[in-house]
Amino acid sequence: MSVIQDVIAKVKQTDPDQPEFHQAVEEVMVTLEPTVKKHPEFVKANIYERLVEPERAVTFRVPWVDDKGNVKVNRGFRVQFNNAIGPFKGGLRFHPTVNLSIIKFLGFEQILKNSLTTLPMGGGKGGSDFDPKGKSDGEVMRFCQAFMRELYRHIGPDTDVPAGDIGVGGREIGYMYGYYKKIRNEHTGVLTGKGMEYGGSLIRPEATGYGTVYFAAEMLATRGLDFKGKTVAISGAGNVAQYAVEKVNQLGGKVISLCDSAATIIDEAGIDGNKCSYVLELKNVKRGRISEYADKYKAVCYESKNVWDVIREQGIKVDIALPCATQNEISGANAAALVKNGCYCVAEGANMPSTPEAIKIFQDNKVLYGPGKAVNAGGVATSGLEMSQNSLRLLWTREEVDNRLLLIMKSIHQACYETAEAYGRKGDYVLGANIAGFTKVANAMLAYGIV
Ligand code: NDP
Repeated sequence: MSVIQDVIAKVKQTDPDQPEFHQAVEEVMVTLEPTVKKHPEFVKANIYERLVEPERAVTFRVPWVDDKGNVKVNRGFRVQFNNAIGPFKGGLRFHPTVNLSIIKFLGFEQILKNSLTTLPMGGGKGGSDFDPKGKSDGEVMRFCQAFMRELYRHIGPDTDVPAGDIGVGGREIGYMYGYYKKIRNEHTGVLTGKGMEYGGSLIRPEATGYGTVYFAAEMLATRGLDFKGKTVAISGAGNVAQYAVEKVNQLGGKVISLCDSAATIIDEAGIDGNKCSYVLELKNVKRGRISEYADKYKAVCYESKNVWDVIREQGIKVDIALPCATQNEISGANAAALVKNGCYCVAEGANMPSTPEAIKIFQDNKVLYGPGKAVNAGGVATSGLEMSQNSLRLLWTREEVDNRLLLIMKSIHQACYETAEAYGRKGDYVLGANIAGFTKVANAMLAYGIV
């Protein structure tokens, strides 16, 4: 067996109950095969096997009290995966599906993503199986404080800097940062995604969605195309989806879909600026369901289906697909339907939203396919810019941060494109992203010797 296949087999054997982690490792590792021949020094130092083993993984008990006085217990996680090129960095996810496999898959992807951003950040991820949905603000606050009561000992501005992810937005970051500040008695850049009043960065809320669209625009430009007049499907209705809609609108495209975990809405007239503002209010303030959009704007609502199932079942034509909800949301059948209906560009705002079968279909059909770790890197890149501003004790303007984000997304695109070309696989953004991200981390690991 090859070095790569050995590593994949060992990961599966060592942790047989971690399917999402296996999927992420396998997807990355097979594309690194050409580096084995080109870099015997990586093989000699066993970089491949060292890369898939986290530096450390912490799990902990999170006891908290609900509004009725009942004592509840959730499980907390922080996986510090790799800090070869900078402090561990990656979001916190609060969702009932969270387990070690999910956190390890996300943390592993984060190593290469952060490397691609051009900024000095290592990879990590964390979270809890706590579900903020349906909880009062008081319950969310008490949970966040209990979570931070343990997490604080593992993080620090030069050690590990968590951020938001699914279920962790401005409210949760505020509660966690407030508690960290209280128990450490220090005001420091230990979390990103902070509010503007206490060390946040302009454009951070918009960054992942905007960056996703910037990356898609770069891919389209390689074929002389742009967003103007194009029909775009977006999934999710959270942070990434909301700002992806806003940027697509700014670039002249028409977004026709959104979903949450309960329903999909299709609005053939397009989700314009006013409707987009309504979605922000609905999801971020009222914490309502996307089905309410259908009532208000006479869109069609499909209960218990995601966007890609609806597109397949209804035969809806779209030019561009931006999955921005969650992992494995596009099945092979969904991908085949997208291609059949004329979709030629898929850019992943979410992490690993396409199954391996879907990715193969996109690539076999020459769809411009951008993997999450490159496409959605704008979020963590802007978190990196937030860390820089915290260290400088300065606040950059909206325009300055947005320009830096745009330049970073262009340079990530260029790195992926040129790396794929250099390895004889022009247009293969998966291979390009993985090898470009990996090479930098591997060289740093090599420089340290065996540590
Ligand atoms: P949010 O929690 O803000 O939004 C997630 C949205 O997806 C919600 O509308 C949620 O529905 C919906 N959703 C979740 N699971 C499903 C499902 N199984 N089927 C249909 N819809 C679902 O999270 P984000 O927008 O922050 O994150 C979305 C994706 O982007 C994730 O994969 C995340 O890892 C990735 N990402 C996020 C970054 C960021 O900066 N926020 C950075 C890089 C990647 P509901 O409203 O019902 O919960």
